[in-house]
Amino acid sequence: MSLEAKTKTIEVLVSKKPEGEVDPNKVSKDFNAPDANAEVEGHGIWRWVECWHCGSMRHVYWEYPGEVFTCGNCGYDYVPVSI
Ligand SMILES: [Zn+2]
Repeated sequence: MSLEAKTKTIEVLVSKKPEGEVDPNKVSKDFNAPDANAEVEGHGIWRWVECWHCGSMRHVYWEYPGEVFTCGNCGYDYVPVSI
């Protein structure tokens, strides 16, 4: 079997530093692995986001534009940028 045949393209959003003050109560958690999919109820969408600070790939449950997440790798806050 060829490994090349298993290559998939996934959409990854870039992120940016939040502007202004961030309300700690409105910061969401991100995830390392996508297998948490079934555990969250809501109206958001799962997206891969690259942390603007450390460049790691984060999996987030994104519920609204401008939502702030804290990177589980470097601890900086980021906002997914819609494209
Ligand atoms: Zn980071």
